Order: sequence, then C-alpha cells, then structure tokens
Amino acid sequence: KLSKRLQMIADRVPLGSKVADIGSDHALLPTYLAQQGIILFAVAGEVNPGPFEAATRQVLESGLSKKISVRSGDGLAVIETGEVNVITIAGMGGSLMASILEAGKHKLQGVSHLILQPNVGEDHVRRWLLEQGWKLESETILEEDGKIYEILTAIAVPDEEKRTLEALYNERQLPGEVRVSKERLLQMGPYFISEAPEVWFTKWESELKKLAMIKGQLQLSSAEASAAKAEQVSQEMKEIKEVL
Ligand code: SAM
Repeated sequence: KLSKRLQMIADRVPLGSKVADIGSDHALLPTYLAQQGIILFAVAGEVNPGPFEAATRQVLESGLSKKISVRSGDGLAVIETGEVNVITIAGMGGSLMASILEAGKHKLQGVSHLILQPNVGEDHVRRWLLEQGWKLESETILEEDGKIYEILTAIAVPDEEKRTLEALYNERQLPGEVRVSKERLLQMGPYFISEAPEVWFTKWESELKKLAMIKGQLQLSSAEASAAKAEQVSQEMKEIKEVL
C-alpha cells in the first residue's frame, strides 16, 4: 500500500499516461501506477546507485520489467523527447526540482502534465512554472506522520495562453484591505490563499514559529547586516500573518 503522499500524487496521473518518475528511489510510484493499470509505460529515473538498484530490484520482483524502464541518470537526461506525457518529481527540495526542470526543458515537448511534490521551497517551483509558461492547475496539501506536503500540478498550455498565466499572481486584495504581493502568492500558493485549507494554516503557523526563531537569533547579533535582515524577516512575518 502506498503512503498517503504517494497515493495523492498517483491520483493526479491521468489514465493511459506514459510517465517519467524522476528521483524514483524504490520506484514505488511507477510500480503502483502500472499494477493499477493507470499507465501504459513508465520510466523510473535515478541519479544515485543505491536507489537505482532498489528501483531495478522492485520492478524485477513485481514482474513489471516490460512496463517500467529503470534508468540511471541525472534528472530528465533519462528520457527522450516525446517519450512520456507526464512527469512526476517528488520528495526533494523545490530549488533542486526547478533546476532539474530547467536543465531538461528541451525534453518537455509533448509533456502535458508536471506533477510535483517539493518538500520545501515551493516558491522556486511556482516561479519556474510561471517563467516557463506552465499553468499551475491545482495545489493540494496533506499531512502524514506529522509532516506536511504540497503537491503542485501544472499543465502545458498553447503559446497564446501563456501571457495570461501571470494573472494568477497579480497582486490581490483580500477582505479587510489586505494586499497580497506576487512574492507572497508564489510563496504561499495562489489557490491555497483562496481556498485556505486547514492543513495549510497549520503549515504557515509552524513556518511563522521558525521565522520568529530566526528573527530572535538575528536580533542577538550585533552585526549591522543582521539588524536589516531581522527587519526583513519581521516584514515577511507580518505579511504572512495578514494573509492567514
Ligand atoms: N520520489 C520518491 C518519493 O517521493 O518517495 C523518492 C524521494 S527521495 C527522498 C529523492 C530521490 O531523488 C533520491 O532517491 C535521490 O537519489 C533522487 N535524486 C536526487 N537528485 C536527483 C537528480 N538530479 N536526478 C535523479 N534523481 C535524483
């Protein structure tokens, strides 16, 4: 049985897809998708030898070698252009994820869905999607074993629609004269801010506590730069609180 996190990622994969799961580790996600008949074919990509071997073993033992190709390589280097229509990347930081997508962007032609689950740094992912003309289609958040995860799904749009994508991040006015900046929208999620799911509040309450600690530490330092940084953190906290 899959973890709740991987299950929610699996639920976003369209029926009949060809998927590349990048950083697949034990290839649990492609194995499940193939066993359930959700996908036609998958590539499980891994850059590290340990996880690559684990994925190879998993696919072999599940008897899925015809459906899942386990490949060793960095990011999207493991796929050919046009080979898959869905890419999943889960369980790594958002900035690594954005750099994997950036380095492999010439491989994205023919890809219709990017299903991304960054562990931290979701803003890097949203910014990359926006800058590269991918439409952020949905945001999901879940809690499992005391950890909170976000799943960002993006879809390819025709060129003429790309210039409309910025609108999702236009500065917004919330009730009570609160203005939400593009920066905050990228950080906290344009859909989450409207839909305000319970778990999302929990996440930002805990992020605020972390920021308060950082601010406290900066205030203890006598360096001039620290005072300015503390002021910045303070402003960020104020803006986050206004959104919540
Ligand atoms: N995707 C699985 C999940 O969500 O449960 C595994 C997540 S695991 C924490 C992250 C995996 O990404 C590791 O197995 C690591 O080797 C792999 N990884 C990190 N950087 C990578 C890269 N540039 N290309 C391919 N795989 C990478």
